[in-house]
Amino acid sequence: MSLDVLAFGAHADDVELSCGGTLVKLAGMGHKTGVIALTRGETGTRGSAEIRALEFARSAEVMGLAFHKMLDIPDGRVEVTWENKLKIISEIRAHRPRIVFAPHGIDRHPDHENASQLVRACCYLAGLQKIETEREAFRPVKVVFCQSRFEFAPSFIVDITDAQARKMNAIRAYASQFHRPDRPGAASEPGETSIARPEFLELIEARDRRYGAQIGVRYGEAFLVREAIRVDDPVAFFGPEYQWTIP
Ligand SMILES: [Zn+2]
Repeated sequence: MSLDVLAFGAHADDVELSCGGTLVKLAGMGHKTGVIALTRGETGTRGSAEIRALEFARSAEVMGLAFHKMLDIPDGRVEVTWENKLKIISEIRAHRPRIVFAPHGIDRHPDHENASQLVRACCYLAGLQKIETEREAFRPVKVVFCQSRFEFAPSFIVDITDAQARKMNAIRAYASQFHRPDRPGAASEPGETSIARPEFLELIEARDRRYGAQIGVRYGEAFLVREAIRVDDPVAFFGPEYQWTIP
């Protein structure tokens, strides 16, 4: 199956937080979308690998994904090795995505930074015929970086106004990651992680709101591309920017 968009995250829930609204929107437009988590999240502070796999599947359903998969790279040890590159090259060739979403290369979590480097490199390497895997060479048209903890000056912002509520539901699918004082045994749960902070969902919404405001809509998600963007018709391309309807 060829995907239109394949989003990679180091861990289950990374993609939802960084570009979940865009994936929801694209699926709604009829595009085939997929998500690959490089790890199973077995070293996460909360939950277990089994619980995270169930939550990952639930979130995939909420986002309307055509495909989702967890690879077996060890959590906390996402390293830039040839072995890991071959795993990712093999997935890119199997799913032939037109666009790949990758984590931004500057992050606090080393898994995220290494995932960024791996995915970008593999999008190139997957197109080299002399690197032999079971499937034929294929190179995506574009690698697009998604925002995590650290901000960047966006190359473009996607209007996710109609998809934002569903994005938040996809994030809520990771119930084990949230702090729930009412949950049995909550007092003995591990300490606060950033996603477990009570205000976490508010912060996600505030960020989406802020990027939305930059393009004159209610909610937006920011993306970065390294190469210049080819434009054939600047009038059509920039059209929507002039319809300023601040909510
Ligand atoms: Zn992560």
